[in-house]
Amino acid sequence: MKFEVTILGSSSATPIYNRNPTSQVLNINERLYLIDCGEGTQQQMLRFDVRASRIDHIFISHLHGDHYLGLVGLLSSLHLNGRKKPLKLFGPPQLMEIIDLQFKYSETTIQYAIDFFPTDATRRQVIVVNEDVTIETIPLDHRIACTGFLFRQKKRLRKLLKDELERLQVPVEVFTALKKGADYTDLKGKVYKNDTLTTDSDVPKTYAYCSDTLFNEQYFAQINNTDLLYHEATFLHNMVDRANETHHTTALQAGQIALTVNAKKLLIGHFSARYKTLDELLEEAQSVFPNTALAIEGRTFVV
Ligand SMILES: [Zn+2]
Ligand SMILES: [Zn+2]
Repeated sequence: MKFEVTILGSSSATPIYNRNPTSQVLNINERLYLIDCGEGTQQQMLRFDVRASRIDHIFISHLHGDHYLGLVGLLSSLHLNGRKKPLKLFGPPQLMEIIDLQFKYSETTIQYAIDFFPTDATRRQVIVVNEDVTIETIPLDHRIACTGFLFRQKKRLRKLLKDELERLQVPVEVFTALKKGADYTDLKGKVYKNDTLTTDSDVPKTYAYCSDTLFNEQYFAQINNTDLLYHEATFLHNMVDRANETHHTTALQAGQIALTVNAKKLLIGHFSARYKTLDELLEEAQSVFPNTALAIEGRTFVV
């Protein structure tokens, strides 16, 4: 089952040096989930071959422009391209008001339903449960209300050992029960233990998206043992005062967080426009947590 994230934007505040404001797209079992939608996200989707029509869920972390100024453009394009199926949108309560106002004054009636779910940055909420994944918000500590998002893959059913089933001529009707763990009894009354006919499915993975935030232990427990942790790392640690003032994290702190929560891999992004190259940010995070990568645009990371 596919579970991977493609980076569409990695810049904080403004687009600069070929870096776009924040956006990422998750592919979970061929369903696309868009996380944040900074200005230029549509162009990035075209560049990296992400079909907007396949996105059914959009998550907005907070209302700073670098995380959502591309959203109305995207919603508008979906409308112009004839979308009819509903879209689920998650974000701060005021987001829908902003969208409605923009469409009101352009006299546009969107031809598909936008099912809006307001997030509450003061508490953890489970916002999506489907057959592939459970998604919850991560309350963060930023200058304005802000949440991250935690994607937990669902445990899949057991996998059938096709050759063995064929050899024993096990009827197709019992396959569903076998996948759920039942033993099989043949017509002569012989019992076959489930683990001789199936194997366990893969261990479910987790992806945590920690958008703009101050280094604050409040959310660490929630992201414990994450397989892939995306964390903002706006500044180098020599600017920790500035990071504290603006409620951001340094690359060193991002590495410390990954280590503290026992993440398997760390991805850093949301780089300040002051950094023309990113090597120093990477080295700083790696000095604490070696398995760190840069959220380079166009790159896909398997969770
Ligand atoms: Zn930001
Ligand atoms: Zn922000």
